[in-house]
Amino acid sequence: MSDCLFCKIAKGEIPCRKVYEDDDVLAFHDINPVAPVHFLLIPKPHLTSLAEAETHHAAMLGKLLLLAPKLAKEQGLSDGFRTVINTGRGGGQEVFHLHVHVIGGGNIPPMVKRN
Ligand code: AMP
Ligand code: ZN
Repeated sequence: MSDCLFCKIAKGEIPCRKVYEDDDVLAFHDINPVAPVHFLLIPKPHLTSLAEAETHHAAMLGKLLLLAPKLAKEQGLSDGFRTVINTGRGGGQEVFHLHVHVIGGGNIPPMVKRN
């Protein structure tokens, strides 16, 4: 996807504050953090959202989820963290390249406010 922001970040065409990188995935700090620690985990190959994930993406999805607690701990989140995957416009997704938010530190409010 030549016009995808996170593809460009994955290829190094747009800079990021890198947290972790290997051949398959990249983690970088969110440019507009909602908490003291807020980074994003993405697969390097383009995948629009979780809604487009197929069976052959299982290993990559597992890798992202297993990296989340490891990197969260390395970023100082010893007491826990929140993971968020917004999917599609109805899920509040704004960048259409699958990403896992890892958020923590400070005061994390309830995820969904109850009436
Ligand atoms: P979402 O609403 O789940 O699609 O989240 C997209 C996230 O990408 C938001 O939290 C943005 O702050 C973040 N973001 C947008 N552009 C950049 C960028 N160039 N570098 C790092 N994070 C970004
Ligand atoms: Zn992309």
